[in-house]
Amino acid sequence: MPKLKLITFGCQANDLDSERITGLLSSEGYTLTEREEEADLILLNTCAVREKAEHKVYSRLGSFQVLKRERAGLKIGICGCVAQQEGEALLNRFPYLDFVVGPGQLTAIPSLLQAGTVRGVATARTPGYSYPVDAPVQRRSSIRAWVSIMEGCDHFCTFCVVPFTRGRERSRPAQDIVEEIRGLKRHGYREVTLLGQTVNSYGRKLTPPISFVELLRQIDRVVDGQMRVRFTSPHPIDVTDELAAAIAELPSLCEQIHLPVQSGSDRILHQMKRGYDRDEYLEKVTLLRARTPQIAITTDVIVGFPGETEEDFQATLDLMQQVDFDGAFMFKYSPRPHTEAERMPDQLSEEVRSRRLEQALALLNRLSLERNRAYLGRTVEVLVNREDAKGNTDRHTGRTRQNKIVHFGGEGIVDGSFVSVAITGATPLYLQGEMVRVVV
Ligand code: SF4
Repeated sequence: MPKLKLITFGCQANDLDSERITGLLSSEGYTLTEREEEADLILLNTCAVREKAEHKVYSRLGSFQVLKRERAGLKIGICGCVAQQEGEALLNRFPYLDFVVGPGQLTAIPSLLQAGTVRGVATARTPGYSYPVDAPVQRRSSIRAWVSIMEGCDHFCTFCVVPFTRGRERSRPAQDIVEEIRGLKRHGYREVTLLGQTVNSYGRKLTPPISFVELLRQIDRVVDGQMRVRFTSPHPIDVTDELAAAIAELPSLCEQIHLPVQSGSDRILHQMKRGYDRDEYLEKVTLLRARTPQIAITTDVIVGFPGETEEDFQATLDLMQQVDFDGAFMFKYSPRPHTEAERMPDQLSEEVRSRRLEQALALLNRLSLERNRAYLGRTVEVLVNREDAKGNTDRHTGRTRQNKIVHFGGEGIVDGSFVSVAITGATPLYLQGEMVRVVV
């Protein structure tokens, strides 16, 4: 049986795409291997959102050059957003690369593999291939599943490459999504995360249109209290009263939201073309907390956007404090090809961007620690999942409904069960505790 080494970079959408690629190639006889030395096919599923992620791809690819010389018949392919962004140029730059496949053309992989020594490219400009919505997904986890509900984005924020690599917004029919989740429930999954670049604009372009909240209600009926449901990432402008009410009311929906803010400065938000200002973002936060006081709110922040002054940066720090985020992905701005921001004047120096990132991270650490300390002495429901252990193998690990990681002790605990845990310790990144009882 041929062996596949699959290396995934980037977001959950890429994780899910990798599970689709595995499903697609397992029907071609491939089995997964962790060891590149024994692989017949090495695939890099790539991310172009940040310059650093893209450089990681190139350095990993460079390390396979020797292997390609030594192993006759070894094929190497690049898929994902870097493949879409760079296309054929990758074949010129890396002569030992066999093929390049964009995220919307994954069904091209089997035919490219059969092309013998012919090197191939399938990107959004190549007709005849598609995103394998119906391909069997070979999931890595048997507890937590990603379900794509929409692809692409219509927003064109000035720093973001996603609309260029994943295309315009397309939603899957609600019936297909609900059926997929029904199947996951049948197979014993305990948690599902609905994925989309702007997940809460789901369904507007469908005929007839259906709202994201209506989809959540249908899913809630199907899972019937037996699974947790999350979604990521929503766009702030589409956080409505109905969505806030759904989070508060639907039993399956977790009390957690990842709501990217990107900046706390109105001037920079305008330059980013985010479609909201600081006050509007804060109103959404107030709305969510009014309905669900225990909700955990995390975010994405970019520091060092072109033209960001010290005052703009301070406005971001100030907003972080005002919202009191539970956590955040913090990035220093990096110019991305094709984007408006790449061509903006006043690109800031590496030194300024790094210093601001350090400052923002220090603040985030303080805020997250305080938010997590508020859990001390409380008992929380945890879905046990070893995948979240990250080195803490001597203790059990899982996540709360607020998506907080908890490392805890206790006897007779099995992966995939819900347990109550008394919280005894807190760090900025996780909670610690002891199991009180098994819930289910
Ligand atoms: S909303 Fe903006 S940041 Fe998010 S995927 Fe679309 S263009 Fe990118």
